[in-house]
Amino acid sequence: MVLKQVFLCALVVLSVSADHPLWRKLEGDLSEEPEVELLQEVNEAYRLPTVTVPTHYNLHLKTAIHQNNRQFQGTVEIFFNVLESTDTVTVHNRRLSIWKVTLYSVSGEVQTELESPEFSTDAETEHLAIKHSSVMEPGSYMVKLEFNGGLQDNNNQGFFASSYLDNDGKRHYLASSKFEPTHARSAFPCFDEPKLKATFTLSITHSKDYNAVANMPQDGALIPDVDDADYVTTKFQKSTKMSTYLLAFAVSNFRIRTSGYQTVYARPNVYEETEYPLQAGVDILNALSAYTGVEYTKYMPKMTQIAIPDRGSGAMENWGLVTYGEPVLLFNPAINSYRTKKNVDTIIAHEYAHQWFGNLVSPDWWSYIWLNEGFATVYEYLAAQLAYPETNYWDLWAVEVIHNAFSADARESVRPMTWNAATPSEIAGLFDTVAYDKSGSVLNMFRVAFQDDNWREGLVSYFNSRELDGAVADHLYEGIQFAVSGKDVLPKAFNVKDVMDSWTTVAGFPLLTVRRDYKTGEIVVSQERFYSDRQLPNDHVYHVPYNYATKSTPNFETLSFEWLSTKATKLTTTIPAEDWVIFNKQQTGYYRVNYDAKNWQLITDALQQNPSAVHVQNRAQLINDAYNLARAERLDLTVPLNLMTYLKQETSYPPWAAASSVLTYFNNKLRGTSQYQYFINYVTQLIQPIYSVHSVDSVPDTETTMEKYLKQTITTWACRVGLQDCITRTGNALRTAVAANTPVHPDIATVVYCYGLHQTGQTEFVWLYERLLASKNQAERAVLIDSLGCSQEKEFLKSFLMTSIGSGATFNFLETERTRIVSSVYSASRVGVDALLEFLSDGSLIDEFVSRLGQSTLNSAVSNIASRTNNVEELEQLEGLLNALGEKISANTATSARTTARNNMAWFNTLEGLVAEEFFGAYTQ
Ligand SMILES: [Zn+2]
Repeated sequence: MVLKQVFLCALVVLSVSADHPLWRKLEGDLSEEPEVELLQEVNEAYRLPTVTVPTHYNLHLKTAIHQNNRQFQGTVEIFFNVLESTDTVTVHNRRLSIWKVTLYSVSGEVQTELESPEFSTDAETEHLAIKHSSVMEPGSYMVKLEFNGGLQDNNNQGFFASSYLDNDGKRHYLASSKFEPTHARSAFPCFDEPKLKATFTLSITHSKDYNAVANMPQDGALIPDVDDADYVTTKFQKSTKMSTYLLAFAVSNFRIRTSGYQTVYARPNVYEETEYPLQAGVDILNALSAYTGVEYTKYMPKMTQIAIPDRGSGAMENWGLVTYGEPVLLFNPAINSYRTKKNVDTIIAHEYAHQWFGNLVSPDWWSYIWLNEGFATVYEYLAAQLAYPETNYWDLWAVEVIHNAFSADARESVRPMTWNAATPSEIAGLFDTVAYDKSGSVLNMFRVAFQDDNWREGLVSYFNSRELDGAVADHLYEGIQFAVSGKDVLPKAFNVKDVMDSWTTVAGFPLLTVRRDYKTGEIVVSQERFYSDRQLPNDHVYHVPYNYATKSTPNFETLSFEWLSTKATKLTTTIPAEDWVIFNKQQTGYYRVNYDAKNWQLITDALQQNPSAVHVQNRAQLINDAYNLARAERLDLTVPLNLMTYLKQETSYPPWAAASSVLTYFNNKLRGTSQYQYFINYVTQLIQPIYSVHSVDSVPDTETTMEKYLKQTITTWACRVGLQDCITRTGNALRTAVAANTPVHPDIATVVYCYGLHQTGQTEFVWLYERLLASKNQAERAVLIDSLGCSQEKEFLKSFLMTSIGSGATFNFLETERTRIVSSVYSASRVGVDALLEFLSDGSLIDEFVSRLGQSTLNSAVSNIASRTNNVEELEQLEGLLNALGEKISANTATSARTTARNNMAWFNTLEGLVAEEFFGAYTQ
């Protein structure tokens, strides 16, 4: 194997310049020669040779999945062009048994057999080299491969088997595919790289009692199998040109619901739950077609969504056949909550956004996966908001995406958005928080800074120039540059590439520090990379779009920008000394902001006087920034704790969502200690006013989606800190529900069931458990599992844990549900941790636990018990468990558990612990 440095971007810049003279012209004289970006070294031996490219696949597969037979047979004819003389064509193969290979030359419609060439697969690179006995000159060829493979066992990779139970308890099997990023090669030999696009003609032979679905519509009637009357073949129309990772198919006995060119497939016994996602699919695809200005049906004649049982809560955007885990597609208004609906709406929006960002234009290579996932993350929220404006889903953007991105991106070891990879596991590792939340945050910052109409114009230009092909970052920049030219939205003397590369090619994100001179009005704004736990010298300059509001000019709605394109700048202002200043209006920019102590005090005072003077997104930003700056030792911890006391007047969800993370941190540190009561007092004071206007046990018709989010957060805290009204009413609501054998409204079920169980007994626990066993809806089952974990009866919880390793018809849990039972128990309360400690310390159960749930579930349980260890008694319990487990866990797992627990207990001797202890102790208001 040879290690080579990759000058990928340099090559790309050259080709862009050659193809698009306009690009050079638009840059004018302002820009120097584009910098050569060096992607980091990877092992290039994993890449396919560039001397051959595929043009078309005829793929035929045969499966007997209806009998739970895991073997499948296939034949693929791969048409390819030889670009440079070679004797070898190399494709990918993972674990397929190839028993016959035939090579043809192709001239028009005529195929001439050349020979049955030698072939061999390298298990490491997964390269299948097919070697012709003489040189193939440039021209058209076809290689026909006949092979057998095994369906994978419900691992959501490649071509895999799943199953479900019908209403009579009979198990049915199905087979479906998920190829991104490198799993197509485990279903058929292929050129498995995203830029190597081709057309596909697929046919599948399957039981006549089953149906097959794929990217494209069926082509003609079912074809009876001449050899076996029990089988038929479904043939599909020739596909659009696309990447191998987007090919998809499923063979099942699912039932279909149709509206125009959209359909939803699901197992027959959840048919009623497909009505909502079908309608949402129609609404969201229309919204995206209108927004992008590129009609979906221009490239793909139909859209199918399919719900795969026990596939977790992920989804995959295959062109024309999007696959989902059931809890993020199926929706039953009688039993599913607003949160399930939000997940369905936004995940559909995410996957449908990929039909443009990823399917129509794919990344040239996985190093640019942010061109897929960053955009899909933005439109996950924006397209759902466009389709359903009344939900205000966009209000969740900063607290769910930006704040989450910050957490991962503040580590020193984090990667930049553009990052190379070669091996399948390196490529899989690129699908991380950087690819999704950080890239989404950065792209949305530029969408707003460049203005949405310019952005859309730029995207249309990008789609038009790269349709049905691959792209790199420069292609996107080119499109946007075209749209913003002459529009005064860029920093002077810089182009789109300069500005966006300063974010996409460098790890991390900046902290802006704002220092005011209260006499002159001058403000010095400086930037540096923010780390969660250290300060390091760094001379990188991000091009930061910024703006600010003040007490005298609180115009948070006007979003125009200046640019900080140097390490620091001095602003001359006439801002009065008594005014507060807040940077990054509505937190559209992907950066944190710190201020001098006086400005923080002015902001805190302003929030306490009148929260609505500050935009709701900035209220969330201030809490999240102040807390994280304090954790990074850049701000006194009393600043966020003081600032948060304004929450007594806060009636919107985003600031409460930001605050809830902060409160959770201190709750975890202080629970079980003598200081806990002071913290409880602090939280009680903050939540009481807002709790009193929301009903924990009923759902008014007028309640909005954001009010539901707010209510769930507030009532959870109210019950957690033991507010008597919350405890009494949830207990009564659960008792009433059980007596009437009628579930509570799904939007309050999470809180009522969890805290209701604190006040009730075995009857209620058993009622919820029986509802769990009876439910066919995975999202509802998740709520019920989490609720059962809330019980305060250790013996009930131990019985519940026992069901997670149970076998036989009584314990028909999905694999994902078994691990959820364990996490629900330790997450809910200390009683649950105690129950799990006793359960895992029982030597007679531990082998069954590991064989049923896996070593990783045991390791994770130990680590979660350790992180919930706060006092001497709990430490002794942990030691007891570690001793009981002995060699059932690794020395590393045990050591790391002890370190976590000791650090928790040492927290009170840290600056943060001491300040927090003093603050909560003194807080009496
Ligand atoms: Zn995605």
